[in-house]
Amino acid sequence: MSVWRASYFNGQQSTAHDIEIALTPTGLWLGLPEGEQIVPLDQLRLVEPIGSSQLWRIELASGGMLDVTDGASLARTVGQQQPWLGRWESSLKLALLVIPLLAVFLFAAYRWGLPAAADLAAYAVPASSERWLGEKTLQLLDKQGVLATSRWPSERLALIRQQLAQLGGQAAPYQLEFRRSDSIGANAFALPGNVMVVTDDLLAILTPDELMAVLAHEAGHIEKRHVIRGMLRASGLALSVSILVGDANSIIDALISLPIALADLRYSREFELEADAHAYAWLQMPGRTPCNFVSALKRIEKAQHNRNKDLPEVPSWLSSHPDTRDRMAQFQSHCPAG
Ligand SMILES: [Zn+2]
Repeated sequence: MSVWRASYFNGQQSTAHDIEIALTPTGLWLGLPEGEQIVPLDQLRLVEPIGSSQLWRIELASGGMLDVTDGASLARTVGQQQPWLGRWESSLKLALLVIPLLAVFLFAAYRWGLPAAADLAAYAVPASSERWLGEKTLQLLDKQGVLATSRWPSERLALIRQQLAQLGGQAAPYQLEFRRSDSIGANAFALPGNVMVVTDDLLAILTPDELMAVLAHEAGHIEKRHVIRGMLRASGLALSVSILVGDANSIIDALISLPIALADLRYSREFELEADAHAYAWLQMPGRTPCNFVSALKRIEKAQHNRNKDLPEVPSWLSSHPDTRDRMAQFQSHCPAG
């Protein structure tokens, strides 16, 4: 029979008595000053040491308690005899409390922490790096044949560039790129930096005012840095961390190796609503109307539908701009009925 030394407090006085305790088949034997006593195991509770302390505590139903110096071996022995007792009970309670908390924490980290870290990282990317990334992406799309030189006369393109100046550009002027694209069709999209790409097919179907409405939406994506934020959110936490710690090489490697088909970039609904709000604010100014955005979307929808008639997939511009009908409601209210 193993014997342990323990400090005994009777629960009424603060003085401790140094006593011997032992495990017997009927319970815990205590060599108390007032005489021997055996406490059945279901009338005591074993409390694990907190922190680095090796001191185990035994709480007795009588109100007394024992501090056991080498309590770990006692706990093991008790645990073997009565595995559900004492510490197991307290661990289970702790686990029941911790598991939901952990689940909430993990969900919060995934839902808000990751986007927040990615956003933080995105805002830490220097403007020059973002411009560089935009140029590289455009080069890549050109090289891969996704985009090709525009066939529109340069005079028309120059005129649109002049109109673009109306959109402003909070940090720097927007850089408008015109491209022909068989794979993208009638489309406009933003790249990292201040770059907007407009396809020949889009120029063919929109009036100048409608085009400006679409570009006002793309300007919203640029002003809110949606492209880089979206890329970082998609790439996960690792990349965001390397940006925050300033590991430039791994950032560039990772971004360039991302499977970016930017024309197909699925923005989150949050980003789309922000870009819409930007366009809406701009279109409400004198001499403009939000209605131009509605008619632009209708034309794009129709063009994409015709183009994809035989394809089962959703048109890319529309799928990157989900819930079109819902989002159009506020714009639509400015349009003449019918
Ligand atoms: Zn958009």
